[in-house]
Amino acid sequence: MKHLWVATHNQGKAKEIKAILQDFEIKTLRDLPNFPPIDENGSTYAENAQIKAKALYELVKEPVLADDTGLEVKALKGLPGLHTARYAGADSNHEKNIDKLLLEMQNIPDGQRHARFVCDLVYINKDGEPKLFTGICNGRIIRERKGKGGFGYDPIFAPDGYELTLAEMPASEKNALSHRYSALQKLNQYLAANTCL
Ligand code: IMP
Repeated sequence: MKHLWVATHNQGKAKEIKAILQDFEIKTLRDLPNFPPIDENGSTYAENAQIKAKALYELVKEPVLADDTGLEVKALKGLPGLHTARYAGADSNHEKNIDKLLLEMQNIPDGQRHARFVCDLVYINKDGEPKLFTGICNGRIIRERKGKGGFGYDPIFAPDGYELTLAEMPASEKNALSHRYSALQKLNQYLAANTCL
């Protein structure tokens, strides 16, 4: 089976990817304990994904995949955006990030709480050529946490057309709606049409 290296330590992400890219054996940074921390200093999600993908490709010289995701709130002019993972500062975690976002949005009326997750995914083929795929999940930020599933901002994000947050849905339902799933589907179609890669 062909290898696909994914620039993440997150087992959940690796599982999500394996469920879609079934022809590949998925390897992650957990299989490379000496892989150095990567400075994600790009000015876009695509640049950050490319930085991670390139660093990994230089080491393994096999096909690699890296993604970078941001949450963009319209009423906050696109914030947290590039700061999504560290929105609450250097010692951020999911809980602190959510607390900060709910506070920043406390005066934003219900009809104006539109937000979206944007996922940029960079695939580098065995010859070192990169290709970018983007997936988006539109929704809104609700006023308090609901649900225990998922991760990150899921408890306060309700996708368009749903009353439930992503954290209230079964994993299979969330994954089928997600920004990452949409980008991975595009990659999957690309790989199916370019079997030489
Ligand atoms: P990363 O690029 O996957 O590391 O994600 C960047 C930030 O976006 C982190 O704070 C994640 O918690 C958040 N994030 C990414 N994907 C999701 C998701 O599917 N649901 C909720 N938060 C997410």
